[in-house]
Amino acid sequence: MGLKTLLTTHVGAADSHTLNHYRSVGGYESQKKALTEMTAEQIVNDVKNSGLRGRGGAGFPTGNKWGFIPKTDKPKYLICNGDEGEPGTFKDRLLIEKFPHMLIEGMVIAAKAIDSHQGYIYIRGEFHKGIRIVEEAVEEAYKAGLLGKNILGLGYDFDLAVYSGAGAYICGEESALINSLEGRRGHPRLKPPFPAVSGLYACPTVVNNVETFCNVPHIIRMTGEEYKKIGTEKSPGTRLFAVSGHVKKPGIYEVEMGTPMKELIYDICGGIKNDGTLKAVIPGGSSSPILTAEEAMTATMDYESIASLKSMLGSGAVIILSESADLVETTYRLAEFYSHESCGQCTPCREGTHWVKDLLHKIKVGEGTEKDVELIFSLSRNMEGGTTICPLADACVMAVRPTMTKFKGEFSTRLKKEVSISH
Ligand code: SF4
Repeated sequence: MGLKTLLTTHVGAADSHTLNHYRSVGGYESQKKALTEMTAEQIVNDVKNSGLRGRGGAGFPTGNKWGFIPKTDKPKYLICNGDEGEPGTFKDRLLIEKFPHMLIEGMVIAAKAIDSHQGYIYIRGEFHKGIRIVEEAVEEAYKAGLLGKNILGLGYDFDLAVYSGAGAYICGEESALINSLEGRRGHPRLKPPFPAVSGLYACPTVVNNVETFCNVPHIIRMTGEEYKKIGTEKSPGTRLFAVSGHVKKPGIYEVEMGTPMKELIYDICGGIKNDGTLKAVIPGGSSSPILTAEEAMTATMDYESIASLKSMLGSGAVIILSESADLVETTYRLAEFYSHESCGQCTPCREGTHWVKDLLHKIKVGEGTEKDVELIFSLSRNMEGGTTICPLADACVMAVRPTMTKFKGEFSTRLKKEVSISH
């Protein structure tokens, strides 16, 4: 366990984003293997055997997702979700800027697996540098015959286009992303139907995250069985974690799944800034419920361990908070983010996120009362559990309620009169 490079082995090379460098370290060999030696079914099975789970948030098994695509005559679309916008998350940006050809190779292999001949890379609009690098890489790949008609003379066609988002967090939700790609307002769609059945232009569509696609060439090269030996039994592989907050060495670290969180914080990231004390950890992006220091010290960096603590590995953003952190301020800022990013379609989300944000502001400035705390908990109950089209309202609840419950003393002392929180 600990640091292990699979995707980021050549991160130190200044030209890692170029086709020349990528090919010099064995790049596109997996694409050739998949196009010449493997059937679509074999690719899907190899990815299923690897146990690869989506690296964007939900952690859904990738091979199963591909297997849901119906065998119809309709076009099938493949989309890379590079709209990395979850607060604290910045690991896909590294892959986009340093390894665009790994992403393209992974997408071509996935395309063959689902019989797709058109793909899109949807990148967060603020990633100007990344968009330029990926566009250049796509152009290089076309010129080298690695994309387009009759790839490498092997008879498979796959076109790939780069699309820039326009700054909405909600477009990271796959059905909102699909609407955005179609030129519509980036609003999440009611499901079912799910994108596997009716996605882009009402056709079967697979949407995977950048890091998920980047794992695919490695799985095909080493086989799913070998890949599965890395990490834990239920969470195989490595994972890129974007560590931020009060640590001495924040940054992006690729570690083997199952690595103790304690090792990530104290050995890999050098411990707490100014030799302070750990107060809490937000383990998987802003919508993952906060862990106390005690919980964090028992956790390992894999889906099951974090889920057993009623949180989630989510987007791979690990936010470290020392004793110096003001959790009332932190919680208010997260609620403000969600209220700003709500698309407004659902009343519990449109109204709830704004009410929660306003009530937290009252508490933050010392004007809040216990009634306001109770109202936040009451609103939360109406915002979660499937009352809305997408999980943004749930995300707001997960960013707020666990913090107010686990650190209630911190909130109580900010109320007008010092009263305890009864929830
Ligand atoms: S939950 Fe919020 S963001 Fe999601 S569709 Fe409804 S209003 Fe829009």
